[in-house]
Amino acid sequence: MPQRTSVLIVGSGPAGLTAAIYAARAQLSPIVIEGEPSSTTDQPGGQLMLTTDIENFPGFPDGIGGPELMAQLRAQADRFGADLRVTKVQKLDLSVRPFRAWLTEDEEPSIEADTVIIATGARSLMLGVPGEERLLSHGLSTCATCDGFFFRGQDIAVIGGGDSALEEALFLTRFASSVTIVHRRDSLRASKIMQERALTHAKIRFAWNTQVKEVLGEEKVTGLRVANTETGAEQILDVTGVFVAIGHVPNTSIVEGQLELEDNGYVKTFVGTATSVDGVFAAGDVQDHVYRQAITSAGSGCMAAIDAERWLEAHGH
Ligand SMILES: Cc1cc2nc3c(=O)[nH]c(=O)nc-3n(C[C@H](O)[C@H](O)[C@H](O)COP(=O)(O)OP(=O)(O)OC[C@H]3O[C@@H](n4cnc5c(N)ncnc54)[C@H](O)[C@@H]3O)c2cc1C
Repeated sequence: MPQRTSVLIVGSGPAGLTAAIYAARAQLSPIVIEGEPSSTTDQPGGQLMLTTDIENFPGFPDGIGGPELMAQLRAQADRFGADLRVTKVQKLDLSVRPFRAWLTEDEEPSIEADTVIIATGARSLMLGVPGEERLLSHGLSTCATCDGFFFRGQDIAVIGGGDSALEEALFLTRFASSVTIVHRRDSLRASKIMQERALTHAKIRFAWNTQVKEVLGEEKVTGLRVANTETGAEQILDVTGVFVAIGHVPNTSIVEGQLELEDNGYVKTFVGTATSVDGVFAAGDVQDHVYRQAITSAGSGCMAAIDAERWLEAHGH
């Protein structure tokens, strides 16, 4: 028999766990499916499990480690009785009431839910080169807003050629001595205005037709091994910081074809956190391609729990 819940929360990043705290304190006994420790991009605790110091989450004047912050959010959700489970939602059916979720390959659903909060987050596209995984959060980052401050006075490389790469590069000029934009082609995909700003900036240089082969360094980034895409000639870029800015992908596989998505693939939200299916709400990076911060994700997780609670109230649950 499927287990019945009034609120099913999918994801245990800042959005999912904040929704869990609010829903649990509202006596809704939420079930939280946390994800599986299967890879570096999808795991209980979400993206902050991949990082070391968080200095911009309010309430921690001395900063806090990513995994430590997530452990505290989890403990807080647990304290109020959220049912936290380290496993994955394999499939969702949002076309029936109550909604159904499968945690296994069985025919019968595992959970039936009156409301669902989708908080499955997003992931950064990575280069897939040697050294990258080892040095993530040790000089290699995917978020200039988050980590730029740690790179004061350093020489940095930004990988990518779109608007977000140029945005990251321009932001990083506040801290860095120099920023080298490493791009595989000989022209940028970014908008004209961003190109103009970057091309004329005194601190920004360009490595055109250049592909990253390896991120160098044992415990910290010490350089980048790159190759010219036309000649194959290799060289070492002397940088101590690398920002990978080649795109983000929202984790929407379980809702594709069921919820309306934005053109860029993010879940479309309407009033508050409401999605195109009544009773299904979305919070955090899965519906936010603009801010992508822990605090904004937590904020929208809070909104989703309140939206779900009001929905349940309005529908006589
Ligand atoms: C290296 C790094 C450093 C960062 N540093 C900072 C920082 O300093 N400050 C800051 O504010 N932000 C930082 N960020 C951004 C921040 O981590 C994200 O904005 C935030 O984690 C998004 O929260 P979320 O809850 O929406 O999603 P996520 O954190 O992405 O969590 C998604 C959750 O959904 C789960 N999930 C996915 N699919 C399923 C499924 N089918 N079933 C069950 N669970 C599923 C995952 O396992 C995970 O638990 C950083 C990000 C990275 C990658």
